[in-house]
Amino acid sequence: MSVRIRITLLFAAIVLAILMLVCGSVYYFSYKNRMNYMKTKLTNWAVTTGSLLSQSGVFGQQMILKIDASTILAMKDKTVQAYDASGQRKYIYNDHPNDSIRFDRHIIDKARTGADFYFTFGNREGIAHYYSDNNFQAVMIAAAFDEEGQKKLQQLKFILWLSFTGGILIALIAGYFFSKRLLVPLRKISDEVNEISVQNIDRRIKAGKSKDEWTYLSATLNGLLNRLQESFNTHRRFISNASHELITPLTSISSQLEISLNKDREAAAYRSVMESIYQDVRRLGRLTQTLLEFARASGNPSGLEIDLVRIDEVVLALPGEISKLNKDFTVVLKFEGLPDEDEKLLVFGNEELLFTAIKNIVLNACKYSEDRIARVNLSFERNMINIFIEDRGKGIPEQELEKIFQPFYRVDESSLNQGFGLGLALAQQIITLHKGQISVKSGPGRGTVFAIVLPLAGSFLQQ
Ligand code: ADP
Repeated sequence: MSVRIRITLLFAAIVLAILMLVCGSVYYFSYKNRMNYMKTKLTNWAVTTGSLLSQSGVFGQQMILKIDASTILAMKDKTVQAYDASGQRKYIYNDHPNDSIRFDRHIIDKARTGADFYFTFGNREGIAHYYSDNNFQAVMIAAAFDEEGQKKLQQLKFILWLSFTGGILIALIAGYFFSKRLLVPLRKISDEVNEISVQNIDRRIKAGKSKDEWTYLSATLNGLLNRLQESFNTHRRFISNASHELITPLTSISSQLEISLNKDREAAAYRSVMESIYQDVRRLGRLTQTLLEFARASGNPSGLEIDLVRIDEVVLALPGEISKLNKDFTVVLKFEGLPDEDEKLLVFGNEELLFTAIKNIVLNACKYSEDRIARVNLSFERNMINIFIEDRGKGIPEQELEKIFQPFYRVDESSLNQGFGLGLALAQQIITLHKGQISVKSGPGRGTVFAIVLPLAGSFLQQ
């Protein structure tokens, strides 16, 4: 069901409930009012006739009949009757002489024993009232047809039905047009969003001036488009940088091969070309490996092998791995406040990726410092694990600090240290994937400290 129809029906349902309440209570109170009015009128009549009968010596039957005939003229088919203790009818007045209605014994008995008894028969209503004074005791029954009152009640019922159905119809029509008006901005926003594609991702939705929900929705969608555009640009930059990094060694290989194939050469010359090509191929291999790791860390974590990883074991494996890569590099480990329980050393994640992330930073610490030493400090703080990687190297200028995590960014392109500028970007990607944080403090000549904060597996289990 469309939202427009839903709003219309909801609107009509609210109006229906209100109308039902209003019309229902108007009818109910009018009905009750008329009935109470009728009861009072009939009781008064019964009491008056009872008191006249009590003084029948003064008034006489004929007089009383005349008085009864001129009572409550507005009502029709009136009758008033008096019954004694044995249920004998002692007096009767009827509007129509042929209307000799007799009341049931149980009505008479009920009035004698209890309060006034109200009843209906045909279109007439009656009251049985026990009249008693020193001279006269009888059950007085007065009944009449309140034609005028009933007619007014019927008219009221008709008017209420008319207003009720009219109200619902108006609510349905008004609701339909009201919802159309209400949803116009939504349709506009949808049309504008439909027109946005990769080709015109810089286009934005026009937000209205009023501070309503539609403006908020437009702003939210524009925010989403900003993030998407940023992500597209990052991807574009990444692909172009990656292609550039891949094409450079490939071009070098191809031109070296082309030159060496031009003519026959000495074995030494071939050897030198092959050595150079070997270096290029190794570089290509390393780059491809890093790109693959990048792709793994950028994807959905559900596709990764996630396990409980002992972080101290990951850190302990660093010195061996780093010296395998370069025997001049040294890693000095320091563990602070190592907890007794093994579970306090566990993080949820992918061991291989976590190792890669920490290794990249440790490798940088060795690469960019003269003493080639990386100092790794592992400490624990409530639900967090802190890993500090410190070096006493040349440091990083302040204005470069936020750029070093961008893929392919290198502070000093001409640096002798080989690299693709992907190590830190990959490390950040991996740490973020593990719900951790990475930060850096550095300054030229002051050395550099990278801090990795990872949540313990226990903190997820507590949630
Ligand atoms: P690279 O492959 O160039 O090392 P990274 O992404 O690992 O790429 O690092 C990006 C840049 O950040 C490096 O080129 C380097 O200039 C700077 N950098 C990273 N770590 C350090 C460090 N410990 N000391 C000084 N500079 C560093």
